[in-house]
Amino acid sequence: METPGNLFCVAAPSGAGKSSLVKALLELDSHLQVSVSHTTRAPRGQEVDGREYHFVDEASFMAMVAASEFFEHARVHGNLYGTSRKAIQQRLQAGADVVLEIDWQGALQIKKIFPHAVLIFILPPSWEELMQRLNRRGEDSADVIVQRMANARTEVAQARHFDYVIVNSLFETALFDLKTVVHSQRLKYAAQRRAKSQVFGALGLG
Ligand code: 5GP
Repeated sequence: METPGNLFCVAAPSGAGKSSLVKALLELDSHLQVSVSHTTRAPRGQEVDGREYHFVDEASFMAMVAASEFFEHARVHGNLYGTSRKAIQQRLQAGADVVLEIDWQGALQIKKIFPHAVLIFILPPSWEELMQRLNRRGEDSADVIVQRMANARTEVAQARHFDYVIVNSLFETALFDLKTVVHSQRLKYAAQRRAKSQVFGALGLG
């Protein structure tokens, strides 16, 4: 799929700071848009249907899978999550850059269908720091934290398949790194040719 917009997939184990980094990036960069995923998990706290996620039951989700409505989908921590094909294709074709906050399985599926996608993995600086962040955030019970730490080992092992890796030791530095990746991607020859096809055409650049 050749589109003028760029697609960025950001993955990380929970507690690495992915959501805060993506949120800060979106505030700084008006050309970037997020895609709201579908999930079968129940809403948490202040989450609103259609804002954080489209919350659906398993039967509706499976009907969307059967109708090929997802670009990618995966089971993560026992729940189903998926990125709607329509939502991102329209935006990329309209020239927007789209950022997906998804798990590593989804990111690897996307890379197969959309080789231009840029995969970014956020790493914690250490296992100890990850554990401390999960404890500090106070969202999860001790059992859930043990489970998240076990999952994190599997997830972190996937970082080798990603294009870029950012170690989130200091938030501001990690944010700068993320902005740099986005900006560098936009300046690549192939990305510029897709985004500025008229300029390239007029200059005789194929
Ligand atoms: P949470 O339930 O904590 O919001 O998200 C759990 C995990 O699912 C996170 O790693 C999140 O990035 C991932 N996730 C969210 N949306 C999607 C999606 O559309 N596809 C995939 N593959 N993972 C997703």
